[in-house]
Amino acid sequence: MITEVIKANDIHKVDPVFGQLSFDNHEQIVFCNDKDTGLKAIIGIHNTVLGPALGGTRMWQYSSEWDALNDVLRLSRGMTFKSAITGLNLGGGKAVIIGDAKTQKTPELMKKFGEFVHSLSGRYITAEDVGMATSDMDLVRTVTPYVTGISESLGGAGNPSPITAYGVFMGMKAAAKYKFGSDVLEDKIIFVEGIGNVGEALVEHLTNEGAKVFIADISQERLEEVRDKYGAVIYGGNNLYLEEMDIYAPCALGATINDSTINQIKAKIIAGAANNQLADEQKHGLMLKERGIVYAPDFLINAGGIINVYAELENYGKQEIIRKTENIFNTTLEILQYAEKNQITTHQAAFNVAQTRIDAKKKEINS
Ligand code: NAD
Repeated sequence: MITEVIKANDIHKVDPVFGQLSFDNHEQIVFCNDKDTGLKAIIGIHNTVLGPALGGTRMWQYSSEWDALNDVLRLSRGMTFKSAITGLNLGGGKAVIIGDAKTQKTPELMKKFGEFVHSLSGRYITAEDVGMATSDMDLVRTVTPYVTGISESLGGAGNPSPITAYGVFMGMKAAAKYKFGSDVLEDKIIFVEGIGNVGEALVEHLTNEGAKVFIADISQERLEEVRDKYGAVIYGGNNLYLEEMDIYAPCALGATINDSTINQIKAKIIAGAANNQLADEQKHGLMLKERGIVYAPDFLINAGGIINVYAELENYGKQEIIRKTENIFNTTLEILQYAEKNQITTHQAAFNVAQTRIDAKKKEINS
């Protein structure tokens, strides 16, 4: 399950919204409902100190509305720190649409969602996430300018996933340099869990570098497709966490590092694209540190996508997108070294750096 922070039975023990751990001082939460199209969406605006809240829209068949709320809160908070640590003048926001993207997503629903985005007058700018494609953002663009990730033919920067994957690759290399003394991934045993848009592009980089890549996904069709294209090995077991490996790359959904998996994980490095990989940032971050597993913070190394869509707002081109994404290598190395020096978790280190930038801007605004 993606959302672990509030368990179903605990919900009644805390205030339902403001009291949730994941609420974490959100500025605004918008519930969007439209009977005609069946739209049920939640937009979370966590923080707009550095700029408008930008973050993708996820469409997912949540098991409950609480799960959806908790997910959007965790994701939008993550966006605040992602943009801050990447040096972008953006705040953090995210949206979720409750439903099955394969069967319930219609052009009418996407346009209605766009109207809700528009009603926020630019405080929130959307983009794609799981369950969304560039073509969906093109539909949203017909009703609001507050959308990124639109097609290149419409003046957008296109699908952000390949750039996200490149950033994850850079972060992974930095973690390898830190842990093994070299950033070369040749012959390293790497498990990529989730070979969707980002996972597949990551597999391409890794196989090109000569890594021994194992792939896992709930879709057999995807597994065969990616195996045939890149020669990666389909993982045949039923618990990849227990496997001996150099690097574990979570590229499906969040919270795969949780109470059940944390003591099983044998990887020396964790570096992947999924948002909110640690079910409990503090507890699981600390447990990884104690076990000597290098964790490359998710919100730091998966920032390629936001760098890509930010280009649409700031009008910079592909070269600058690549330059900024390659810089994830340096930032990751710095964060890992800073964490070691200060004896804190790598997640906390990345968080501190991001928070310092937000605090400085707030001070500037208030002075
Ligand atoms: P996607 O929907 O294209 O791919 C997700 C893949 O994970 C699918 O192939 C799906 O079958 C697989 N999957 C789902 N549950 C699984 C499970 N339990 N075990 C194994 N595989 C499973 O999504 P994406 O765009 O590739 O994004 C992947 C992750 O990266 C998401 O968490 C997303 O939030 C994050 N992310 C994506 C971007 C981006 O640019 N697309 C940017 C930042 C972060």
